[in-house]
Amino acid sequence: MRVRRGVRSILVSLVTGAPCAGAPPKRTHRLQTSTQSSGGASTPVARPEFPVTRVGIGYDSHRFVTGRPLILGGVRVPHSQGLAGHSDADAVAHALTDAILGAAAAGNIGQLFPDTDPRWSGADSLKLLRAAYDVVRDRGYVLAQADLTIIAEQPKLGPYLASMADALAATLGIAAAEIGMKAKTNEGMGFIGRGEGIAVIAVATLEAR
Ligand code: MG
Repeated sequence: MRVRRGVRSILVSLVTGAPCAGAPPKRTHRLQTSTQSSGGASTPVARPEFPVTRVGIGYDSHRFVTGRPLILGGVRVPHSQGLAGHSDADAVAHALTDAILGAAAAGNIGQLFPDTDPRWSGADSLKLLRAAYDVVRDRGYVLAQADLTIIAEQPKLGPYLASMADALAATLGIAAAEIGMKAKTNEGMGFIGRGEGIAVIAVATLEAR
């Protein structure tokens, strides 16, 4: 039986423990240091030896109330109720913001935009998302992709998911194809099932620039 050289090398390596010939170098996150001049002073700057990928998770939930528009992912969704909140209560934008911040270990949305600060009263949450992403970019990361699930009993959100992905992508300067948007019910269970509110889960992947 013919075995490709690369495969044979791997098999030999597994059996003998010897280094695998032709194998790529093992990826590590060991940091190299160099110096960067700033105002005449040189300070050490840590640079990743290989591309670094980081993953963050975000969760948000809001209660339904009457008299407010329902804004999700920057899209106004027709419904008899909106979501309560200090800002526009866009739970999709909030969950994604926390996922991006979490991936960079840069805190959370409540720390950046406290709900006690009148500046964020009624705020467009896409602007908060963009501001949070600017913080993450300043730390040397860019968003590679994100995946979101909205959990709501009502309204049916399927017709609006593509528009949400477009709005989020435009806010973050990435292709809409890099944002996965899904919606599901909670099968009638719990506060979501009773129609009291909705929840959103988001995962984001960052890569070092
Ligand atoms: Mg929120």
